Amino acid sequence: MQSLTILGSTGSIGKATLSVIQQHPDKFFVHALVAKNNVAVMTEQCVTMCPKYACMISEDAARILKKNLIAAGKYNIEVLSGVMHACELASTDDVDMVMSAIVGIAGLKPTFSALRSGKKILLANKETLVTCGQLFMKEAKRYRACILPIDSEHNAIFQNLPEICQKNLGNTSLSECGISRIVLTASGGIFFKTPQEQLTEITPEQACAHPNWAMGRKISVDSATMMNKGLEYIEARHLFNAKPSEIEILLHPQSIVHAMVYYSDGNILAHLAHPDMKIPIAYAMAYPNRIGLKISSNIDIYYLNKLYFDQLDNHSYPCFQLAIDADNCSQSATIVLNAANEIAVEAFLHKMIAFTAIPDVIRRVLDAINLNDPNDIDDVLYIDQKAREKAISICIT
Ligand code: NDP
Repeated sequence: MQSLTILGSTGSIGKATLSVIQQHPDKFFVHALVAKNNVAVMTEQCVTMCPKYACMISEDAARILKKNLIAAGKYNIEVLSGVMHACELASTDDVDMVMSAIVGIAGLKPTFSALRSGKKILLANKETLVTCGQLFMKEAKRYRACILPIDSEHNAIFQNLPEICQKNLGNTSLSECGISRIVLTASGGIFFKTPQEQLTEITPEQACAHPNWAMGRKISVDSATMMNKGLEYIEARHLFNAKPSEIEILLHPQSIVHAMVYYSDGNILAHLAHPDMKIPIAYAMAYPNRIGLKISSNIDIYYLNKLYFDQLDNHSYPCFQLAIDADNCSQSATIVLNAANEIAVEAFLHKMIAFTAIPDVIRRVLDAINLNDPNDIDDVLYIDQKAREKAISICIT
């Protein structure tokens, strides 16, 4: 039996993880659940999964959760609050693996806490790699943590890598392992076919209705702007120690082929799966073994005669291009990019700015904030804070 702490249990990835655990009660159990505010979902999850600990970042939410659990007769679940307890629950000896599925930079501290205690980390929180990929991969090696990517494209690449690359993730040279390039596919976002002039009128509800994936609101907007693909590009650079020339992004609106690995001997390994996050989650949880998984539907191979691929036109996706440029510039620039994007997306979701203003806000923050690269997490959080302040001032004027 393997025990898990789930950071961000009330979100889309957190719920998918619990669903995999429920299918395999003989193999996995929940040690701790962590979320921020959503007491209603956390109460339900505690009643169903009976973890030893439940932690809400908000103290008020923790107080309500405690009352709810007493009312439900769940006296044995200890309720905690705050980031420090979240970090402890991610690093305790009682835990074998940690699902890192808090959205945004808020996931940084608990994920590093898990890393420094050498856990098996199921890494969904892409912002960790975007904001401090170099530091993260260096410390993963130092503390012998096992990193398993959850993002479907990265998980797909991981599955197609030779064992030596999997076991030394981020510390091998792709070319020395016989790989000429890795390919991540992109659905093109929900507005793939929407004319540019109609994008200004897009509402948050429209932006969050992804055709292939059910996801949280922030990543749904990132998918619509294609910032998500830019973040994934940066993620791939760090996870796989890939040079810019070794990564290709290919348009593939059906989201059936998630990634391909091109080997220098002419072999191409592609990964196909129904777009359901339970699939990469179950793979990572069971790694290096495989477990069975019930999913709502599967790929019917006889319908696969019309898979569509095309080159990505970077100019149609300003957010994607901003991410590539920031990555070419510095680690500090990717922190600024991430912070400005988080604020701009939040402002769009609150109808303070238009969908098309998101890249403008990010560009202006990148132009305004130019700081040295970080040496540690405190530096990362300092740069992040400066970028947020600038982005907020732009969004409210
Ligand atoms: P959701 O918005 O659905 O869930 C976010 C989770 O994070 C919730 O549990 C939320 O708690 C918690 N949370 C939010 N802010 C804080 C905070 N300050 N401190 C602690 N917990 C917090 O997001 P997703 O599940 O969609 O995504 C999670 C991460 O996984 C993101 O980084 C995303 O980019 C990545 N990812 C997601 C994929 C997907 O298909 N959804 C695919 C690949 C990667 P509460 O509910 O209480 O607010």
